[in-house]
Formats: sequence, structure tokens, C-alpha cells
Amino acid sequence: MRVVLWDTWRIESSKDFAGGLGVGLYPRRAGLRNRLIRWFFTRDRRPTALVFAHLAGALRRLGHEVRYVVDRPPDGADVYVFCPSLQTHDHERSVVEELVRRRPEATVLVVGAAARALADHWESLPVTLIDGEPEQLYHHLDRAIAQRGQCVELGDVEDLDALPLPDWSPFEPRRFRIGYDFTRFPTALIQASRGCSFRCNYCPYVMFGNKVRLRSPEAVVDEIQHDVFHWGFRSFKFRDPLWGRDRDQVYRLADLIGRLPQPIEFSVESRIEHLPPEVLRVLRRVGLTSVTVGLETPSAETLRRYRRAGVADDRQVEFIATCRRLGIRTVAGFMIGFPEDTDESIRAVLDYALRVNPTFANFNIVTPYPGTPFFAEIRDRIDDFDYGKYNVYTPVLRYEHLSREQMEKWHATCFRRFYFRWAWLRDNAGSLWPRWFADREAALSQADGPGGHEGVPQPMGRAALGRRGLRRDEPHLPRSQ
Ligand code: SF4
Repeated sequence: MRVVLWDTWRIESSKDFAGGLGVGLYPRRAGLRNRLIRWFFTRDRRPTALVFAHLAGALRRLGHEVRYVVDRPPDGADVYVFCPSLQTHDHERSVVEELVRRRPEATVLVVGAAARALADHWESLPVTLIDGEPEQLYHHLDRAIAQRGQCVELGDVEDLDALPLPDWSPFEPRRFRIGYDFTRFPTALIQASRGCSFRCNYCPYVMFGNKVRLRSPEAVVDEIQHDVFHWGFRSFKFRDPLWGRDRDQVYRLADLIGRLPQPIEFSVESRIEHLPPEVLRVLRRVGLTSVTVGLETPSAETLRRYRRAGVADDRQVEFIATCRRLGIRTVAGFMIGFPEDTDESIRAVLDYALRVNPTFANFNIVTPYPGTPFFAEIRDRIDDFDYGKYNVYTPVLRYEHLSREQMEKWHATCFRRFYFRWAWLRDNAGSLWPRWFADREAALSQADGPGGHEGVPQPMGRAALGRRGLRRDEPHLPRSQ
């Protein structure tokens, strides 16, 4: 069969984030400093969502012809797959509406977290809505096609290692880059696990259970080798919401990554208790360049109210300082825009961000993602149900003490105050421009002590990584599958 994976870039949305519900990009705002911030966050060609690469791999393995179509009329296929985020949901629904009007015989499969959260929006259309992980189509494609007009429950992938490897060839992967995490490109997305065991009530991940499924380190490294060999990827962004929960997996993975003939850079997202200094040191040596963590708010009361497991304040400060010493960038998420927020509570978040001073701070406006317990709890406080605005950069609630306009101003203020400071530049220059500071970094890493782990290869600091990058004309790794 001929299959089209349909996507849109007309609406800014990183579909991989927020559990597949997606997040937007820093909005267009007046003023030079706002424009500079937006330029920084939009300059990269971000990788296509990992789910599309998984679908391409799975469908091709089944023997189908797969094309990726962006913002063009979906034509010339037997099966069309749509995977909207919340921000693109209404637009993609209108594209599907037009498609089934023009071609009533077309088979349309709608997959992904946003479609699952808004299942009732698809009821009137003759499409198959997949309730479950899209990669389940590898096992159940025929069933999904046969149940046109229905919602088909496929559940989650039980054995992640048994999935076919992602196929990036339909997506121009050589252009992918994520500059805030890496210095070497192109960048691929990858996962070592799925799911999160925590229950923060505003988080989309809680909608799909709180079980963590792990991949074997061997399968992960096999995928890295495959990606390097076929597309020349030099950096890998792990898209696990809670990377490194299993320490054995972490050390085995570090061991295998450290043995790759050509070094890679990689970044992870986790909670700080899963990344103590001894683990950070080991990972740094084998290519860890950036860690994303949610620091959210210094208010223990707010964390408790929204069921976010807190971490002692000084450990967060210490964590950022340790990463800085090791030359690892930190991307910290902070949250403003809780219904009861005041000028003082938001100022406290900003002051906290300034004090912790990560490499990058991302101030997210609390967004009531449909399907989360938070959405149900504060439904009567939602002022705007246009899901196209649910991008974590637009206020959509009625706040107790502030207007939406005031919240938007605070959002811009937080970004401007954070980035346009001498202290930010001074503390983070080494991580931002590692090649300029290579000698200093190497000295700092040495000073931080060996902290090795049995089985993990010899230190490979950033300076070494800088000299040993994979050139395009170098032979890639042997084909792994
Ligand atoms: S720790 Fe909380 S915010 Fe982070 S992924 Fe898990 S549930 Fe979501």
C-alpha cells in the first residue's frame, strides 16, 4: 500500500513535547530583546517528531511505500496517517474533513495523544481513531483499516525492543539541529524508556498511566549505530520524560555509548534525583552535553497543591552548579500562571531562576491540557477553549489576581530579565561556547575527580569530543541491522 504521513509546519508546534500534545515556540513580540529571544528559539530546524520516524520504520518493514507530506494536499495514497498536536489539532481536522469530502474512499488513520484526548471531535468523520500508541499499527494495521469510522483500542507497546528501528529517510534528517543542547549536528531523537512514574496533575504524561517501560541498553545503542550509519547523526536527544530511573540501565548504556568508534553528543530529560554527581560525571565522559529538568517553582505549597514531588531547594542549586562545573548545559523549566498566582509569586519564580542560573530557562505558562486531572479541576476557570493557543506560551485561564494580559507581560518579562544579564553570560559562557573554553573545561572536569564506574571507558572530555567528531566523509559504523 501507499501510505502518506501528513504533517504541518504552518502552525508552530513541537509535537514530541508534552507527551505528544505538543508545545509552541516563543511567540512573536515587539521589541529587540523579544525578537532576539525568538530568533534563538526558532533558528533551528528541529527534528520531525519521533513518532513519524517510528511509523515510517514500521510501515516500511511491513512492505508499504511511505511518503511524508507537509502542508500539501494529501493525495495519491491508499492510507493517510495524521498525528496532530493540540496546537495543530483543529487545522489537521479541517484537512481531514476536506480529504474525506474529496475522496470518500480514502482510509484515514488519526493517531497520537491529542487525538486521544479530543476523541469526541472526530466522531462525525469516517476515520479510524487509534486509542493507543501509534507504533501499535505495526501489529494491528489491518484491524485499524477494517474498523473505519471507529475508535480502535490498541493499547501500549509492551516490548519496546521489538519495534522496528525508526526510519528517518523521508524527513531530510541532515538538516535537523537542536542548538541549545548540542554543538554537533545533525540531531536525532531517540528513547531509552517511555512513561513517567510521577503524578504531577497538570502533566499530559499522567493521562496514559504511570508505568515506566525500559528499552535494553543494547537496543538503544543499536539504534544509535543505525542512525549514525544511515544518516550521519552526531547528536541524540533522548525524549524520555524520566530518563535514568534505572541505574543499571544508565551505567550499561554509558558503557556501550563510550565504546562507540565515533563519539556522539546526547542530552537527557529527568528529575535531578536520578542524576547525582557520580552519574553525571560518567555520562559527561561519554558525551552528555545537556540536561533538561523541571525546576517549576520554589513554592512548596504550589508543588504540593498540584501533586508535584518537590526536591529540596539547595539540591537544585547544587545540581545546576555541578552540571556547570562538568560543562553540561542545563535547560530548566519554570512554571508561572497557576490560577492563584500573584505578582509576588511570579517574581519569586523569576528570582529563583536568576539565582539558580541554568544555561537556559524556559518559563512555561501553566496550561490545562485536556485529559489531565488539572483540566478537570479548574475547568470553570478556563477562559479560552481554543486549543490552538495551548502552547505553554499563551495564558488561557481566568486568574484570581491577574488578567491574561498581565500574565502575558510577566511571561515576556521573565524571559527578558533572565537572558539579558551579565551574570547569565558570565556563568554560562563555558557551556555555551565549549570550543572557546575547551582548556578551562578540561581542567575543571579533571578537578572534579574521576568518579568512574566499573565498565565505563576512559574519560572523554568535551575537549576530546571536539577533536574527534564524525566527519561527513568518514566511513560510518557497520550496519547493525
Ligand atoms: S515528573 Fe511530573 S511533570 Fe515530569 S514527566 Fe513526570 S508527571 Fe510529568
